[in-house]
Amino acid sequence: VRVLGIEGTAWAASAAVYDSASDSVEIETEAYLPDSGGLHPREAAEHMADHLPEVIERIIEYAREEYGPEPFDCVAFSRGPGLGPCLRLVGTSARAVAQRFDLPLVGVNHMVAHLEIGRHFAGFDAPVCLNASGANAHLLGYRAGRYRVLGETMDTGVGNAIDKFTRHVGWSHPGGPKVEEAAEDGEYVELPYVVKGMDFSFSGIMSAAKQEYDDGTPVEDVCCGLQETIFAMLTEVSERALALTGSEELVLGGGVGQNERLREMLTSMCEQRGASFFVPENRFLRDNAGMIAVLGAKMFRAGQTVPVAESGIDSNFRPDEVEVTWRPPEAT
Ligand code: ATP
Repeated sequence: VRVLGIEGTAWAASAAVYDSASDSVEIETEAYLPDSGGLHPREAAEHMADHLPEVIERIIEYAREEYGPEPFDCVAFSRGPGLGPCLRLVGTSARAVAQRFDLPLVGVNHMVAHLEIGRHFAGFDAPVCLNASGANAHLLGYRAGRYRVLGETMDTGVGNAIDKFTRHVGWSHPGGPKVEEAAEDGEYVELPYVVKGMDFSFSGIMSAAKQEYDDGTPVEDVCCGLQETIFAMLTEVSERALALTGSEELVLGGGVGQNERLREMLTSMCEQRGASFFVPENRFLRDNAGMIAVLGAKMFRAGQTVPVAESGIDSNFRPDEVEVTWRPPEAT
């Protein structure tokens, strides 16, 4: 199966081709980087309008050279969750390409894609997945035909929380990599640690971190405290999810998954439990159309296509709304 994938839920105008025979993925992405502040939904949508056509054209050109004049079996697109104005442009682009080439459409849940890409390359069966992305933070586990939300943030996503702090100190978006770098030279500062059962909250930590900074604590120290606290929370909840489900496989997904300190903590937790831990390549962690194309191929094979008339986007699309039809029966 060969799939054209299209992504554009927030900042990445991205297109990809996935060829299941060779298991290879080619991705073209144009990133929206705001001049100041965080992501502005209107500017993000303008970015999609400006750049989706060109990344799609580049992938079509690549696929034709690589695989011949009719390279695709279907078009997979991010249906949600994400910024509504951006998603509408993704949907429109996907419908236009599908009609131009007379191909079926597959509507993909962006969060399920973040986790399936790890499961795909890890060769795992029923892992617990920690999705640590910009706008989201949750733990998913597979049970009886759906990815269930085992735990999640009670307020903001993990990347957005970090980005709010970096905006406060005047650093440009995205803040995550800058916090990671600064934390290397920092000393740990204690910040509120908020885990309630399987859920967690970042808002108190963020206010406390801003306060520490305003009170004159060196920014490197606050960054170190932030990383240690937030990632320890995510690690604790991941461990609890493994214990509760009995799964011995953990997959990390989402842009914050690029952080070395988070990976280190999760690696050592998994080692101590004798669980396997997998992190996909960075290009599959941050938003990208490759993960949409890979999951699109599985859904297409399982017959999960969607007619154009029903292919509307859903900006609040929850992962547990997706019926998982593409897994082998022994995994259920
Ligand atoms: P979602 O996938 O939930 O819709 P998104 O589109 O904003 O969210 P991603 O591309 O998955 O998200 O991740 C972007 C986020 O990752 C940003 O908030 C950014 O600060 C964060 N990030 C990137 N690199 C790092 C890093 N090295 N350490 C921590 N955070 C990071």
